[in-house]
Amino acid sequence: MAEQKTKLSEVEQQLKKAEAAQRRRMQSEKAAREAEAEAIRKIRGQDSGRKKKEEKMRKQRDEVVQAKAAKADAIGPNTVRWVIGPTGTTVIFSDDIGLPRIFNSLPCSYPPPREKCAGPNCTNAYKYRDSKSKLPLCSLHCYKAIHGKMQPLITC
Ligand SMILES: [Zn+2]
Repeated sequence: MAEQKTKLSEVEQQLKKAEAAQRRRMQSEKAAREAEAEAIRKIRGQDSGRKKKEEKMRKQRDEVVQAKAAKADAIGPNTVRWVIGPTGTTVIFSDDIGLPRIFNSLPCSYPPPREKCAGPNCTNAYKYRDSKSKLPLCSLHCYKAIHGKMQPLITC
């Protein structure tokens, strides 16, 4: 009887051991699953972080490309650029070349309009140039007017 009881208790103990072992196994499995899940979360986190980084780098690269394109488009100082396009050839001058204004404002009018007489209130085109003052003049009247203006002490 006692032997049987011992045997039973042995079986019970073994069962308990087995149960405990199973519990431990389940716990360790659970822990392993949780660790795995955590690892996956970490990897995903790094992945999204890497994606963000890549996106940022791509954005920066695009910006550099755009900046380079803009730089290539923009005209450098002291430069004349010929652009041969389907509508014709365009000549671009940088501002610091300092071409006559007529060139910039009226690019279509060629030849440029004839220089006006330098006489005061005179709107005529010039006919000859004063050899002394190099001023464009249309008539002797304007010549006198100019010289009268330049030398106000001498009166006609
Ligand atoms: Zn004149």
